[in-house]
Amino acid sequence: MYASVQLLNGFQRSLWYTIPPHLVNTIGVGSVVLVPLQRRKETALVSQIAPALPETVSFKIKDICGLEPFPPDALYHQFVCQVAQFHFVRPMHFYQRIRHFLEEYDSEEVHTAVTSTCADSVVLTQEQQAVVDYVQPVIGSPAYVSTLIHGVTGSGKTEVYKRLIQTAIEQNKTVMLLLPEVTLALQFEHLLRKQLSGVTVVGFHSATKPSDKKALWDQLVQRKPVLIIGVHLPIMLPCANLGLIIVDEEHEQGFQEKKHPKMNSKELALWRASYYKIPIVLGSATPSLNSLYNVQHRGWKLFEITKRFAGKFPAITKVVLTQEGRRRKSFWVSRELEDGIKECLANKKQAIIFLNRRGYSFFVQCKTCGFIFQCAQCSVSLTLHRTVKDGQVQGVLRCHYCDHAIQLPTSCPSCKAPEKELLKKGIGTQQVVQIFKDLFPRARIERADLDTTKKQREWQTTVERFYHGDIDMLIGTQTITKGYHFPNVTLVGILWADLNLHFPLYNASETTLQQLIQVAGRAGRQCAEGKVIVQTMHDHPIFKYVNEIQYRDFFADELEARRETGYPPFARLASIEVRHTDATCADADAATLADRLREINQAEGLNVSILGPAFPLVYRIQRWEVRHIVLKAPSFKALHFLLSSAEQCLLNSGIFVTMSQ
Ligand SMILES: [Zn+2]
Ligand SMILES: [Zn+2]
Repeated sequence: MYASVQLLNGFQRSLWYTIPPHLVNTIGVGSVVLVPLQRRKETALVSQIAPALPETVSFKIKDICGLEPFPPDALYHQFVCQVAQFHFVRPMHFYQRIRHFLEEYDSEEVHTAVTSTCADSVVLTQEQQAVVDYVQPVIGSPAYVSTLIHGVTGSGKTEVYKRLIQTAIEQNKTVMLLLPEVTLALQFEHLLRKQLSGVTVVGFHSATKPSDKKALWDQLVQRKPVLIIGVHLPIMLPCANLGLIIVDEEHEQGFQEKKHPKMNSKELALWRASYYKIPIVLGSATPSLNSLYNVQHRGWKLFEITKRFAGKFPAITKVVLTQEGRRRKSFWVSRELEDGIKECLANKKQAIIFLNRRGYSFFVQCKTCGFIFQCAQCSVSLTLHRTVKDGQVQGVLRCHYCDHAIQLPTSCPSCKAPEKELLKKGIGTQQVVQIFKDLFPRARIERADLDTTKKQREWQTTVERFYHGDIDMLIGTQTITKGYHFPNVTLVGILWADLNLHFPLYNASETTLQQLIQVAGRAGRQCAEGKVIVQTMHDHPIFKYVNEIQYRDFFADELEARRETGYPPFARLASIEVRHTDATCADADAATLADRLREINQAEGLNVSILGPAFPLVYRIQRWEVRHIVLKAPSFKALHFLLSSAEQCLLNSGIFVTMSQ
């Protein structure tokens, strides 16, 4: 027998090898093997098996050396092929990703997976127990069951997950727990290692040490049951005994990868669960509209946990900043917020201040000539950050898209007006820290946002210090809204609630409300007197839902609006991104592609709306010109048919497709 293989090192051509007799029964399509090439050995994927060599192969071919240790997952290759086809990439893409991580570690390194130990059981509430009773019996039986938990903030969804994880592990099944951010994944690893008994807990994400990744790989190869915690990476791992997938904070955008082929790990989790016939549990305090819609129309089971595990719901006060007439020390701090913080600090409690904008101020503009500092590589204005260098405070203008940074000059580059003419507009978290330090000089105030969370271990330390009460006020962006449990926080201040509400995105209301509820939910998790102050420039109907009890009413209203405008879940969207370093070429490529799509659409009677090409909000990123074409279709089938028909056009370099569910 002969095998045609593709090398995982990226070499494009297929190569033929002989399968030695002792391996004939073990090697098949999708096997990962070791082959001789010149004087070295290379890892390769078997893509075809044949009883005879094709006539074109006239030279003498060599034997396959052997099998690479690879988890024995019978469904894996087929699953990878389907995912690859959907994303317009070759199946090799996924094997190469795995190879990449396998090469990261030093094979001499000693590695062991840590098994948790604990003896500590919590009595579940009736609402929590109902979920466990429903999912527990399905674990281990071949059945795809999707369960959505709508559990209010602080409802103890983790306790439910813990029971289910324990059940699966006891049945020798592996569990994948997906979180939308690495910081959250780290927090769960830390927590579950302490709280689960006899479970091997392994992280698998960008902050995981290579030796831990290797330990996980060994466990998978040996079919041992493990709990894998991560964001994007776990879902494409081969795993023979996968028994349960949990997606926490399922409404979050963090599951969507930003790099080509732009996979969405939540969607892949659903796909994998259905393909592998296993249960999947999705949880959120603010479930996505799509998931709630799936409960109504696709047979998902919904469980509600309406009571907090401890503590009460906070009282919510809305303040319209522009209407509030009373004089105050800072425009950004209403009298209500100032009083709230005073009371909070006097009672030795903690506060969280939320603003969804990092840096010192949004942008810098010259008052004399109107010049705005912009990134040289991207079509966005630069954000002012302050850094301390050699004891001196310095202004640095930074691009939030490509991280390009320049010193704030001492005069306007356009009209040479002096620095005092450079107006710093808008507000960012760095400036907020300064405002609060001026207002409350004795309070211990720290900042936690993407600037600092880039260093995940540092973020972990800040979280721990806040948890232990060494910080009084934590100021941050969305990173602090996600799933954290700080028992001593009684006050949450939202500085500018309508900041992202007027973004030209069809789901701006949904994502803004989800974020507000999540951050508001950090208040009063362990006490009765939680308080949330929502400051906004303009009033808006969604603020009446910040009290999360009414979240489902929002769902009904928003669903109606989506039906009228024909957006998801009533339509499927695909966004095609055309990139080129030259603006004229980008325009031309996008126009050609749009014309081609329109031709096919018409000829096949597909009824897909083709919008664009158009300039996205940020149309130049790191010198790449970007154009978008958006496809809107009543069904996914029509969309995929159209995209597949245009595949040749799409596979030209620089054209990427993102599907929106
Ligand atoms: Zn100027
Ligand atoms: Zn830039």
